[in-house]
Amino acid sequence: MQTPDTSVQYLKGIGPHRAKLLSRMGIGTIHDLLGYFPREYEDRRYPAKIATLIPGHKAVILGKVEASETIRLNASLSVFKAAITDGTGIVFALFYRKASPYARHDVFATLKEDFKQGNYVFVYGQAEINFGEKQLRAEEYERHFPDRQNHEAIHFGHIVPVYPLTEGVQQKWFRKLMRDVVDNYSGAWADILSEEVVNRYGFPAAAEAIVHIHFPGNPEAAERARQRLAFDEFLLLETALEIVRTKNKSVAKPQRYSIQRRLLTPFKERLSFSFTHAQKRVINEIFASMEQPEPMNRLLMGDVGSGKTVVALSAILLAIENGYQAAMLAPTEILAEQHFLNLSRMLDGIPVVSALLTGRLSARKKDKQEILKNIAAGSVNLVVGTHAILEKDVQFKNLALIVIDEQHRFGVLQRASLQQKTTAPDVLVMTATPIPRTLALTLYGDLDVSVIDSLPAGRKPVTTIHCPASYAYELVKKEITKGRQAYIVYPLVEESDKLELKAAVKEAGELSKGTFKEFHVGLLHGQLPQIRKERVMADFRAGSYDLLISTTVIEVGIDVPNATVMVIEHADRFGLATLHQLRGRIGRGTDHSFCALLGNPRSEDARKRFEIMTKTHDGFIIAEEDLALRGPGEFFGTAQHGMPPLKAGNLIKDTQIIARAKALAHEIISEDSSLLQPAHVPLRSELLRFYSGRFGLSKIG
Ligand code: ADP
Ligand code: MG
Repeated sequence: MQTPDTSVQYLKGIGPHRAKLLSRMGIGTIHDLLGYFPREYEDRRYPAKIATLIPGHKAVILGKVEASETIRLNASLSVFKAAITDGTGIVFALFYRKASPYARHDVFATLKEDFKQGNYVFVYGQAEINFGEKQLRAEEYERHFPDRQNHEAIHFGHIVPVYPLTEGVQQKWFRKLMRDVVDNYSGAWADILSEEVVNRYGFPAAAEAIVHIHFPGNPEAAERARQRLAFDEFLLLETALEIVRTKNKSVAKPQRYSIQRRLLTPFKERLSFSFTHAQKRVINEIFASMEQPEPMNRLLMGDVGSGKTVVALSAILLAIENGYQAAMLAPTEILAEQHFLNLSRMLDGIPVVSALLTGRLSARKKDKQEILKNIAAGSVNLVVGTHAILEKDVQFKNLALIVIDEQHRFGVLQRASLQQKTTAPDVLVMTATPIPRTLALTLYGDLDVSVIDSLPAGRKPVTTIHCPASYAYELVKKEITKGRQAYIVYPLVEESDKLELKAAVKEAGELSKGTFKEFHVGLLHGQLPQIRKERVMADFRAGSYDLLISTTVIEVGIDVPNATVMVIEHADRFGLATLHQLRGRIGRGTDHSFCALLGNPRSEDARKRFEIMTKTHDGFIIAEEDLALRGPGEFFGTAQHGMPPLKAGNLIKDTQIIARAKALAHEIISEDSSLLQPAHVPLRSELLRFYSGRFGLSKIG
């Protein structure tokens, strides 16, 4: 007997080959299949009358086969042509097939069988008129048996599901498979809601929702099913968050701070500027929550260039001057390195020992051992790094504060695993990507929010244009001649991509020897040795280079007010967040700055990105547009970050469903935190199936 956890390989018609294709789609078990929802539906309930077919439009017809023939068009292409009538007219259905005259198999054998004279068939395709003849360029068909009882068509006569598939898997085959599986196993889909809750919201039962999300009788049934299954997804997510939240709150934090100014004052004195009002307010908010007996969970939002780093550093110094360790996490090695350089520079002359810890470093065993020893002994005060910090061998002496940069690339669940590094740490997450409030609440739950809502004074707007390279290079020359400096950026998708890097370095070399040969040109990329990178940046800062040609490494850390032009090569390949972040490197001085986007935006999305970049400089607008363009899944990188992808739910559309799921999760956990009451056992086991091991949920309660 098959159960939902049975491998799909044991289903009829699925051998090892097909099983492999399905596994590429993330489908291993019958349960996975049931949970593989359609991308969209096609309404094929009402076949069109042949007389009303409109050339150029797709339609379904239902009719009787009058005659058929095969015609060879050329050496490799043949067409099967069937005349079909429905009482209103006649149409010729066309099926093109590649067929060599020497082929041993008749590629039309099945068609000939299905389109025998007198058979009834559904055909779907595009209507055309050729040589005065009404034709249907067929894409799909299915036989219809008007005289047989209980022999319903699967692909026609209904609203039919259309699935996102991988190459080698046909829609028709997959739909048929799904029909069988739904008929036989939908009853086994676990219902995580109690009857009381199902009634409270008027939801369909889980099994019924599964049937209707795949094979709905009408559009309303499909939407009701989707809402029910979306509610389930959000309930799982919100319950998991609620458990983490409750756990975090239940531990009293050991660290206590008092503002001593032993480090804070010299730090402030060394800065070449004073804090803005917004920065002061936010620092006060952060200090106030650090002084509370319960752990801080705070989100710091502020646009690119708003000065989040010094705010974070203030919190870090408060922790360190009270004798604790602090950690700062960045999403990539490059960003971690840049932060490390930047922080080290700002901490110059202040008695703080910091260390860099990244995966790349782990390769050099001896250095790493040394650093780990010092972290464990407490002689390192501040650790800057990537998720390498999360690894088991990293032991802190007394880690009290964790700062996470770029929260949207660093999932909520990873935050939970960080919190297991030490008892009840204070956590500050920083993002330059403002998040719509409802989403922030859903994803970050109980985070308090601080916003830096104004930029340091004197920032000039940046004019952004999309132009040919020649125009951009002239602009660069003009600014340099005026005594300004410039960037030309080659944004690499992956800093580790050797091929792409080589291409960028080559192009850069040609530019420096050609177009810009009379200027001083520096070159910077991620693969350069650390010392070299520091040297190049210091020289650019000091004005020894007029022009810096670089990869995305300049995303953080570089800060040269005299730089007034940035040319972004291949800008069409990059997302809004990256472009906005890069552009944030200019417009930092008192002169007007220019950003030139190069590249040919071929896709609609790329065109839209260019348009947004040239129109606005407001990070909030850019974030919303980004969310709209990419969709929330990609925007938040949920899949990579331990949050199961949403299949039925939609973070933007389903605000009411989310609110209800959140309220219910709260209700359930406050009443039964270990989920052992009979009514909660299905929820408990689905939760373990979904999140097991991901953030310490293996032991609920
Ligand atoms: P982001 O919020 O994008 O991380 P940074 O922290 O990198 O911004 O700050 C951007 C630049 O502004 C840095 O060079 C920083 O030194 C500078 N800066 C920060 N605060 C102020 C301020 N109050 N006045 C002037 N410049 C500031
Ligand atoms: Mg920053």
